[in-house]
Amino acid sequence: MSAERGQLFSPGATIGILGGGQLGRMTAMAAARLGFKCHVYCPESDCPAAQVTPAQTIAPYDDEAALARFAAVVDVVTFEFENVPDRTAGFLANLKPTRPSPQILHIAQHRLREKDYLTSIGVPIPAYRAVADPRALAEAVRALGAPCVLKTAQFGYDGKGQVRIDSGTAPADAWQAMGAQSGVVEAFVDFALEISVVAARGLDGAMAFYPAVENRHRHHILDRTIVPAPIAPAIAAEAESLARRIAEALDLVGLLAVEMFVTRDGRVLVNELAPRPHNSGHWTIDACATSQFEQFVRAVCGLKLGSVERHNDAVMTNLIGDDANNWPALVAEPGARLHLYGKTAIRPGRKMGHVTRLLPRS
Ligand code: AMP
Repeated sequence: MSAERGQLFSPGATIGILGGGQLGRMTAMAAARLGFKCHVYCPESDCPAAQVTPAQTIAPYDDEAALARFAAVVDVVTFEFENVPDRTAGFLANLKPTRPSPQILHIAQHRLREKDYLTSIGVPIPAYRAVADPRALAEAVRALGAPCVLKTAQFGYDGKGQVRIDSGTAPADAWQAMGAQSGVVEAFVDFALEISVVAARGLDGAMAFYPAVENRHRHHILDRTIVPAPIAPAIAAEAESLARRIAEALDLVGLLAVEMFVTRDGRVLVNELAPRPHNSGHWTIDACATSQFEQFVRAVCGLKLGSVERHNDAVMTNLIGDDANNWPALVAEPGARLHLYGKTAIRPGRKMGHVTRLLPRS
């Protein structure tokens, strides 16, 4: 039985966050502003979120004794990443209200489940096939045509576990390169641009949407978010309406980031879901009345959602790996809003921080 009772939590309550990365850190900072406390649970010590929270549990996700102790001292549980094991989420949901629900994580942490779900509710996505071995892959490539993209079903992020297949690629080689047990192969989308919408949904079903933004990637990692996306109003409205349809179908309480492709002929296809704060929503801290992190806290605690009014346009640039060494120039740049995540080791591809530059509102 779930511990969810539609409860509202007032300032002073403790939010338990699974995951200790920068999303948890920025959530905890927004929570503190509203008078909530956060308790971070993650397997690694000195994680970015634990640096800014009064309480931490450092334990593996399958340590049920540690999870039970954690549940006993928090009022409500949430997640800052979707790869929390099913059993962990289910275990906690039996003890404390857990938002969003473990069923949503279950869908969003598995590409095939996610694509099947989106198809079942009529959301347009790129053509895809499930593949469980190189033979199935060869057949799928024949059916979908090259180029196409092979992706792992689980634990893929920032382009990890992803292989492009061209007409000359041997399916067996692509299978090896993906390095997983099962996957999804999807048609290559010749997109005009990539966009995302971050939606919030409260306990009362009320929804708020940040505007569609453009996301530009470098080496498969988000490099830049441009606010708002340079798209026609009808496309922006379609993107928002897809985000609404998905969040309502999932009966979401929390945040949902929906990554989408805009095709050259003006169609909007959903690529991926993230039921949590998202990198493409970081600009909201500096440019909106209510940031995505505050909105997340409000939704998870059952408060009314805040205004998503945007007082500025913005460009958010990620600081990846060595980029973070540029901080002296960034702190000296008038108008650049620098956010560093407190990570000590710089590694190539690691998100170390971001910088938001505000522009007059269009
Ligand atoms: P993902 O891990 O699915 O978010 O993919 C990472 C990035 O790879 C996307 O943001 C796109 O730039 C690119 N990509 C993924 N799938 C496709 C596709 N079917 N067609 C074209 N580009 C893709």
